[in-house]
Amino acid sequence: MDTQFEDKTALVTGAGSGIGRATAEHFAHHGANVVVADIDTEGGTETVDQIEAAGGEAVFVQVDVTDESDVEAMVETACDTYSGLDIAHNNAGIEGDNAPLTEQSMDNWQRVLDINLTGVWLAMKYELPKLTDTDGGAIVNTSSIAGLSADGSAPYTASKHGVVGLTKSAAVRYAEQGVRINAVCPGVVRTPMVERTLEEHSEAVEAMTREQPLGRMAEPEEIATTVAWLASDDASFVNGHALPVEGGKLA
Ligand code: NAD
Repeated sequence: MDTQFEDKTALVTGAGSGIGRATAEHFAHHGANVVVADIDTEGGTETVDQIEAAGGEAVFVQVDVTDESDVEAMVETACDTYSGLDIAHNNAGIEGDNAPLTEQSMDNWQRVLDINLTGVWLAMKYELPKLTDTDGGAIVNTSSIAGLSADGSAPYTASKHGVVGLTKSAAVRYAEQGVRINAVCPGVVRTPMVERTLEEHSEAVEAMTREQPLGRMAEPEEIATTVAWLASDDASFVNGHALPVEGGKLA
């Protein structure tokens, strides 16, 4: 444990699994009080148990990021439990159906956009009034390499490009109130989301991995350290940025 985020409260959505869990654990390990938010109670509780077993401080809040009253309650619980909010990592997301655009259903389109994009907007809507009360508040939104290039299904790519646009728009608007807002754009990361795809389309994932200059997928902790850097005072002049963490694939 160290003290980089001591006395800070960090809220992480989608923290019951994968990248969100790794970020929640990283913040806790570095001294933050962590609000573990997820729709999945089992995964979220497991993250809290792991943080507590390692000597950290965390609380679980069940949330559907597409439900405005859930999101409002999530932010209120964070502030009531730990007296304020300093950092938010808006990360919950789904891959959705990978079918070609012409075969996509309205339901899948709407679900991917609702969770991946509207969920990030809703979270910021309730986080920002709390973060502007804080000295040096920071938001990191999870986009994707698919937010910077055509690297996923049509709805996924559209949702992740949307997260980049939303991040830039909010970053410019809220900078003078002392909040920095950035996005992280991971390439392929070894998480349950990718493991599910691996089971269904192992060839596609193997091909994707071969395309990586580093010749491997990222581990969730490699995204977590980037999120933590973006949220830290070390990145005090980084704002409105969409940072690829993709092993050089975009190069
Ligand atoms: P994951 O499936 O391991 O974790 C996603 C978490 O989000 C789960 O715990 C899930 O329960 C939660 N979630 C889903 N819908 C929710 C909702 N409506 N409300 C609240 N929580 C909800 O996936 P991951 O790979 O860790 O993905 C995390 C984020 O990173 C996503 O936004 C994803 O698009 C993005 N991403 C992942 C990769 C990758 O290769 N794994 C690459 C680029 C971007």
